[in-house]
Amino acid sequence: MTTFQDLGIEERLLQAVSSLGYQHPTSIQEQAIPILLSGTTDFIGLAQTGTGKTAAFGLPLLQVIDETVRHPQALVVCPTRELCMQIVNELTLFKQNMPHVSVVAVYGGTSIGLQIKDIKRGVQIVVATPGRLIDLIERKAINLEEIQYVVLDEADEMLNMGFQEDIEFILKNTPKRDSTWLFSATMPPEIRKVSKRYMKEPKEITVGKMNAVNQNIDHQYYVTTAHHRYETLKRIIDFNPGIYGIIFTRTKIDAQDISEKLTREGYDIDALHGDLTQAQRDRVMGQFRDKSLQLLIATDVAARGIDVQGITHVINYELPDDVEVYTHRSGRTGRAGNQGICVSIVHAKESYKLKQIERINKSPFHRLDIPSGKDVCRKQFFHFVDKLLKVDVSHGDYETYVPMLEEKFADLDKADILKRFAALEFDRFLKYYENAADLNLREKDKGRKDQPQAFDKSKDFGRGDNRKAYKKGGAYARLFVNLGTKDGFFKASFLQYILDMSDLRKEVLGKIDMKDMNSWIEIEPSAAQQMIRALDGKKYKGRSIRMNDADRR
Ligand code: AMP
Repeated sequence: MTTFQDLGIEERLLQAVSSLGYQHPTSIQEQAIPILLSGTTDFIGLAQTGTGKTAAFGLPLLQVIDETVRHPQALVVCPTRELCMQIVNELTLFKQNMPHVSVVAVYGGTSIGLQIKDIKRGVQIVVATPGRLIDLIERKAINLEEIQYVVLDEADEMLNMGFQEDIEFILKNTPKRDSTWLFSATMPPEIRKVSKRYMKEPKEITVGKMNAVNQNIDHQYYVTTAHHRYETLKRIIDFNPGIYGIIFTRTKIDAQDISEKLTREGYDIDALHGDLTQAQRDRVMGQFRDKSLQLLIATDVAARGIDVQGITHVINYELPDDVEVYTHRSGRTGRAGNQGICVSIVHAKESYKLKQIERINKSPFHRLDIPSGKDVCRKQFFHFVDKLLKVDVSHGDYETYVPMLEEKFADLDKADILKRFAALEFDRFLKYYENAADLNLREKDKGRKDQPQAFDKSKDFGRGDNRKAYKKGGAYARLFVNLGTKDGFFKASFLQYILDMSDLRKEVLGKIDMKDMNSWIEIEPSAAQQMIRALDGKKYKGRSIRMNDADRR
């Protein structure tokens, strides 16, 4: 197997790479590094993020610059602030044994004065977003005269974002350029044009489009109705207690709404969207990166350039229209040899899109059943048990409490104590999921328009609930009520509220379908009037409750 040493990397960089735990070069590194080390060959690398492309250009760049002179010699241009910071972070790790090399990040949305000061202090490598770089050139704060190496990272993204002119301006104004290194996930005609115009016989390398990533990502999908998308998302999250993931939505409104709804329901999530200030964005990203935030929800635009290690799941709240967008999204997981899962929530009519993605990405999709309420409870339960078994009790004063605890628990046997612990942790899940519907769109449901589906009478574990589904020859009546999640209800608390008010037993209820402002309640027809009498016209938090028979409205 090839080593970094075989590729011609110098000792100080070899030590850094080894301290980062890189054992062998990735495919793009193996192919690019020997070419780039020559310093004079133009290069095009067709590679996605996650293939190790930053090191593929970063290591040779650090080796070819002259560290004895302190003026900008290399320019790395990339589409976003996030990517800019990531590149600088990686270069900083690589140059840990090169104290005389300075790297500066230059991007918009933050003080230009500080960046100018950094440049004036004397740097060899400038990593920049196009807009801010042009600004600095116009202010004569940076001199491109002495630039020998220009790296264009994620060139296709920069063109998509409308930076073509800026890039051409940069290439035109670097007269001493010895070589240009262009990295891109795709090769649209505009990039070909730029390369023809500004590069000399570039050596072109393609890293098997998705191959490296493919093997590490399991592409899964769940089929449901548009109406059950949100519930399905929650099931997926609840079914994966250790999840550390990014959820993608098409619109920022969706990202915002879903984030708010999930936060209200106790999930650890925040949104990234275009309306955030830079400071808010940095805060959210910081929390996500250090894992104090478990889930991030974002649009494609807002998530551009984000590279976070250890993402376990990418969730497509809806499938994107564009296969490349799917590829970009899924590439956020399964990085650097880790396993990852990309989950898509789709509706029946989207199977053609799945086929298209499958064909282009050459990776199969696996259809999974949306977990039932019972599945979720079981999964959460075992996760809890694992946590209980692994908890570290070696520190702290637990020993001193033992005699007191033993006395307190004297009348309870071990099974009782365990049950109580489980109940403490699980009541939320049990209450929420004990009446959970089957969210899967089955063959038999096709053609039915978002029909409320048969009630999943899944039982909790071991509480001996003998409740029977309502089968007295007829359908449930359906009640409408103008209360919903916006009133601060979760399904369990709502159920409790309507039952307490009406003095009915929960056996009379069928499915409860909650929306932001309104809800629909299935109920045995004989109990419907009692519920309406109990709630209609009463006040909830100062607002009049309106409840009536939904089918007679
Ligand atoms: P990139 O494609 O540059 O965004 O890299 C993806 C991730 O892979 C980064 O977090 C790198 O730290 C990591 N990485 C890059 N090269 C290697 C390597 N040779 N071995 C292991 N991990 C690597």
